[in-house]
Amino acid sequence: MDLRQVIRNIPDFPKPGINFKDITPVMENPEAYRQALEEMTQLLDGTEYDKLAAIESRGFIFGGPMAVEQDKGMVLFRKAGKLPAKTRQVTYDLEYGTATLEVHVDALNAGDRVIIVDDLLATGGTALASAKLVREAGAQVAGFLFMVELEFLGAAALLQKEGPVFSLVKYS
Ligand code: AMP
Repeated sequence: MDLRQVIRNIPDFPKPGINFKDITPVMENPEAYRQALEEMTQLLDGTEYDKLAAIESRGFIFGGPMAVEQDKGMVLFRKAGKLPAKTRQVTYDLEYGTATLEVHVDALNAGDRVIIVDDLLATGGTALASAKLVREAGAQVAGFLFMVELEFLGAAALLQKEGPVFSLVKYS
C-alpha cells in the first residue's frame, strides 16, 4: 500500500501556510498501520539499540507497538508536568515561545543505546531536544526514527550530528 495515499494533507492547519500531514487515517486502517510499523522496524535492521524513546504524543503511536514487538523497553518523553516521579528536563525554542520535554531520571541508564521515535520530522527542534535528554542521562542516541520526514526543511542534516536518521515517507 502507498502510505502517501493514506496520509491526509490539511492545508493551513494549525495556522495559515502550514500543510499539516494528518496521519490519523493510517491508524484507522489496520493494514496501513501494520505496514507502517513493520517498515519502520525494518529501517532499524542493522542498528543495535536497547530502548525506544517515544515523544509525546504521536511518537507513542509507533513507539509502543514497536517496543513490544521488538522486546525493548519504551521510555516516555513527555510534556512538562505530566510525569509523576523525579524528572530531568530540556527546554527548547519553538517558533513562538518555548517548550519543555521531561523524562524520568531512572528511565534511561548510562550506556543505553536509544532510538528516538516520533511521527514526523519537521524543523528537528523536538528531536534535537530529545537527543539532549538522552545524552544528559549518560545514554547515547542510536538513531532517530520517523514515519514522515519533511525533507525540504533540511532537519536531517542537523540530526545526523547526533545519530543516524531513519524515515519512512519523505516529502521533498
Ligand atoms: P519539529 O520540532 O519542527 O521537527 O516538529 C515536530 C513535531 O511537530 C512533530 O511531533 C509533529 O507531530 C509536529 N509537526 C510539525 N510540523 C508538522 C506538519 N506539517 N504536519 C504534521 N505534524 C507536524
